[in-house]
Amino acid sequence: MRTKQDIADWLDEHERRFTRMSDEIWDNPELQFMEFKASKLQADFLAAEGFRITWDIGGLSTAFAAEWGSGKPVIAFAGEYDALPGLSQKDQSAPDPISAGAPGHGCGHNLLGAGCLAAALAFKQWLQSAGRAGTVRYYGCPAEEGGSGKVFMGRAGAFDDLDATFNWHPWYINSAMKGSLLSVNRYYFRFHGQTAHAAADPHSGRSALDALELMNIGVNYLREHVTDDVRLHYSILSGGLAPNVVPDYAESYYYARAIEPDTLEDVCQRVIRIAKGAAMMTDTEVEVVYKSGSTRALSNEVLADLQYDVMRELGGIEFTDEEQAYAAAINQRFGDSNVKTLVNRYGVDPQRAEQALIGDVLPSKDKGYVSPGSSDMGDMSWFAPCSMLQTATWASRAAAHSWGVVATGRTSIGHKGMMYAAKVMALAAAELILSPEILARAQDEFRAVVERSPYKCPIPDDVPAPSHAHPLR
Ligand SMILES: [Zn+2]
Repeated sequence: MRTKQDIADWLDEHERRFTRMSDEIWDNPELQFMEFKASKLQADFLAAEGFRITWDIGGLSTAFAAEWGSGKPVIAFAGEYDALPGLSQKDQSAPDPISAGAPGHGCGHNLLGAGCLAAALAFKQWLQSAGRAGTVRYYGCPAEEGGSGKVFMGRAGAFDDLDATFNWHPWYINSAMKGSLLSVNRYYFRFHGQTAHAAADPHSGRSALDALELMNIGVNYLREHVTDDVRLHYSILSGGLAPNVVPDYAESYYYARAIEPDTLEDVCQRVIRIAKGAAMMTDTEVEVVYKSGSTRALSNEVLADLQYDVMRELGGIEFTDEEQAYAAAINQRFGDSNVKTLVNRYGVDPQRAEQALIGDVLPSKDKGYVSPGSSDMGDMSWFAPCSMLQTATWASRAAAHSWGVVATGRTSIGHKGMMYAAKVMALAAAELILSPEILARAQDEFRAVVERSPYKCPIPDDVPAPSHAHPLR
């Protein structure tokens, strides 16, 4: 395994090992910080391949680093494996849960983790047989979905020595991202009041639910007076237990997002003041609990261009008629907003954009584009040049975080996208070794940004890493 072509061939030969791992994680969806089976499966796999394993990265029991090789450069692959609540779904083209209310892989992190691991191992095999210096490190990262696992890992110094980071995300197109993601902070607001009989003695009650509702009204008025990039959303975790009891406890869970961390901080302080105002209006107390946060992403354009070149060399993904038909059935149940994006942002021919699976290689998004989501990859991207690749693993109209994504995550469609991502990342990593000038350019681009605006960890030092004993190790 000496040439770059050998990397692609090796991944084809070993495909079954990685798709089996991805399927096993799909079969056992685990929520944030509870990815016990997935983390153990991956760490054992890499240990058997000669990687040195370190657990408890950042104080998280389901986070690990697997390292092989020595010296510079240190090339990282960031995998994930957490599922989403309530998205249980069979591998079929109509919505039907395996177990109603159970978790499911609605963001494709089963593919994401196994694909990054496949890239890391293929790159290791190549480094070894080519006799090249360098360190390959795979990170098993928990809790991307709302838990900010990587932020805790980064806060503990786990990414301080990296030279470049590869990550990919399952998506409906093949493209190396150049844009960014929103910064986010997450809070719990816990209101405490006084119970009383709601009919006989209401004047003695102090309703925590009233406070919660007034806070939401205040925040909904705030929306008019924030910049366009700001996103505010909440869910009510507790609103009392019976209408005839004035509730003494109510709890909401808020996300606030903005592009720049400074803007976000300002918005969060305004939201917190609204919560305090609502408590004052209702004679209740509010407890503000910071949960987690992440920072806008810093996509590296040199790495994106490198992967675009690799993709064009490889060609896109070929999907069969059978796969297209399966995805078309899923598409029937979703709207056309992705199709509009394909035409308007990526310049895809309108007729081609109607395909149920888009295997073409698409150009990177414009530099200034900010995708209105958030990820803890954002934080990891502030430690070293970082690429965020997307490949086609789901039906073109399917919405992220929906049953439609789960429905392709265990099929040949998901497998093809995953192995394609593994090839692109491993080949790009090998290119960084063969052409150190590309890595140097990527690092120059990175340094120019972080010197101007240094990274600040969004999670305060006094917020401890969520810790759950790992029952499998
Ligand atoms: Zn995701």
